[in-house]
Amino acid sequence: GVLIEFRELSLIYPNGTEGLRNINIKINEGGEFVVIVGLSGAGKSTFIRSINRLVTPTNGALLVENEDILKLKGKDLRRLRTKIGMIFQSYNLVKRSTVIKNVISGRLGYTGTFKSILNIFSKEDKLLAYENLKRVNIEEKLYNRADELSGGQQQRVSIARVLTQKPKLILADEPVASLDPPTSHQVMKYLKQINQEDNITTIVNLHFIDMAME
Ligand code: ADP
Ligand code: ADP
Repeated sequence: GVLIEFRELSLIYPNGTEGLRNINIKINEGGEFVVIVGLSGAGKSTFIRSINRLVTPTNGALLVENEDILKLKGKDLRRLRTKIGMIFQSYNLVKRSTVIKNVISGRLGYTGTFKSILNIFSKEDKLLAYENLKRVNIEEKLYNRADELSGGQQQRVSIARVLTQKPKLILADEPVASLDPPTSHQVMKYLKQINQEDNITTIVNLHFIDMAME
């Protein structure tokens, strides 16, 4: 079935800048891997951020699992966001926190901030976090602070965090824009691998320059 549908979707930012104009697209569930490529300012980030309502489109409809998400607020919005794993250009880890705590926090889902991380973890939490770190080959950094890792390592931790969330959908907003070509290649490889093994629909934004590196 259809997982996401944009219907004549437009977004104009409060200052009048056009972010999206009349977008119509359907993305199926069951492990599609969608790559959005375009020049800076084309609206790639606005497109991605509309899907978990980090930005709010101003016209049209945006359906996720047949529900128009433009009307959602409060706990309904949080419910939507728990289904969606988000990966950012700047990793968005809690820098002073350990790798394992960052990964376990994924089970809370994306809430906009990660302030409310409990310090008591169950054995199951730790085991799942460890298994997910292993999938991106970074398990040896378990007890390191996030800010002791290189960029590529931090992005792999953020992928492990998203896995802990068990999302239906992964949105990756310029995930390799801060990384060098070999590291970018490696991060893209992990995203594709997870997409194929777990059947998680994945949408990735890339600059033309990133594509050239693939
Ligand atoms: P891309 O990700 O392709 O670089 P964006 O989605 O970031 O493009 O931006 C699309 C357009 O919206 C650009 O003209 C950009 O300047 C503008 N834009 C993005 N974010 C904002 C914002 N918060 N306020 C106003 N304009 C914005
Ligand atoms: P990259 O070549 O990916 O940029 P870096 O040179 O940043 O990698 O890091 C190389 C190694 O040094 C990594 O294993 C990383 O974990 C470690 N490292 C980087 N910064 C720090 C730091 N501030 N404290 C401790 N270890 C660090």
